[in-house]
Amino acid sequence: MTALKPSDQMPIVVTMGCRLNAYESEVMRAHARNAGLAQAIIVNTCAVTKEAERQGLQTLRRLRRLHPAAHIVATGCAVQLDPARYAAMPEVNRVLGNEHKMSAESFRPEMDTPVLVTDIMEVRETAEHLVEGFDGRARAFVQVQQGCDHRCTFCIIPFARGNNRSVPMGRIVQEVRGLVAAGFREIVITGVDITGYGGDLPGTPTLGQMVRRLLAAVPELPRLRLSSVDPAEVDADIFRLAAEEPRLMPHFHVSAQAGDDVILKRMKRRHARADIIAFCDRIRTLRPDAVFGADLIAGFPTETDEMFANTASLIDDAGLTYLHVFPFSIRPGTPAARMPQVNGRVVKARAARLREKGHAALASQLRGYIGTWAEVLVENSSEGRSAHYAPVHLASPGVAGEVIPVRITGAGKNALYGEAIA
Ligand code: SF4
Repeated sequence: MTALKPSDQMPIVVTMGCRLNAYESEVMRAHARNAGLAQAIIVNTCAVTKEAERQGLQTLRRLRRLHPAAHIVATGCAVQLDPARYAAMPEVNRVLGNEHKMSAESFRPEMDTPVLVTDIMEVRETAEHLVEGFDGRARAFVQVQQGCDHRCTFCIIPFARGNNRSVPMGRIVQEVRGLVAAGFREIVITGVDITGYGGDLPGTPTLGQMVRRLLAAVPELPRLRLSSVDPAEVDADIFRLAAEEPRLMPHFHVSAQAGDDVILKRMKRRHARADIIAFCDRIRTLRPDAVFGADLIAGFPTETDEMFANTASLIDDAGLTYLHVFPFSIRPGTPAARMPQVNGRVVKARAARLREKGHAALASQLRGYIGTWAEVLVENSSEGRSAHYAPVHLASPGVAGEVIPVRITGAGKNALYGEAIA
């Protein structure tokens, strides 16, 4: 997180956690600016792990020290789950739940009550808003879905974000058109469970059907990337797009969580180990250059050495490279919190083992690109990302936001080196 100086232009928005939070932070930035909420600092918290919550609290206290006169707004998943805790903090002026944070009304300078939090399980629709830009980012995140109907035993997210709610097709097209007109060359489709898209809409369109219609409706959009997919819910159109649509980026992040079937059952996941491998193999058959990332949890309750070994070997068997490794974190109120826990040191050691395997797999994949060329989205003057999501260090300065052809001249542990092709 960037070091904030007291003289920084207000509103300051601090985003913790996922891309959906990043998207919502842009909505709040615009609301606070338009409402003239002066000296506003907004902290958009995350509750996916205990550590994420701790960082949110620490950030609120630090910002108050740095900005004694600021109007501090605490919001996000950690706040939605425990609003009283944040309302009791002397550092905090306003507490907004995940529904209220999306409403312009919540940012009016004069407020009757400093705490606006509703029962998120009662919310039936996604809020109406259009993001026009992404401060300091070359790619834009677009929310297509909110909440989740599943109840994985380790996960607190549905209780912070409510049940599955999809953004109607028309609004997605309008938002993407606006972002492309504003100069964005890459859109990342985001949500909590994007493969659950459409289940609550008339005609129950699938994620793949939505993406197909979106790409047809916005032919000027060069690159579309999916955030994370549930291997049990990927529809036929996603496979068809992977085979036929060059604008769909050949990078798939799989919400795998584990590679052992007993653990997957105890997590209440809808897929087995073989389904993860089958998903990656099928995509690879349709799009041979496709690459895969995955969320993996280390040390889920009752996980034995053998079960962990099945998760570790999944990295090789499915060909996973971009790993997000989470040491299991007890979330109060979840079924997994009541299960027999794995020793904390073992959890840490297993997480380190998975990261190590991931780094080695990524380094080997990156070496394979040396001597080839890549379409790179320039993120700042000296760096960008390829269509395969590889970070690329540019030999000469590029223009942020542009997509340029780059010859790959070298590879490091977690990034490529390249020079722009004139
Ligand atoms: S699918 Fe499972 S892990 Fe993902 S948000 Fe829903 S409950 Fe949580």
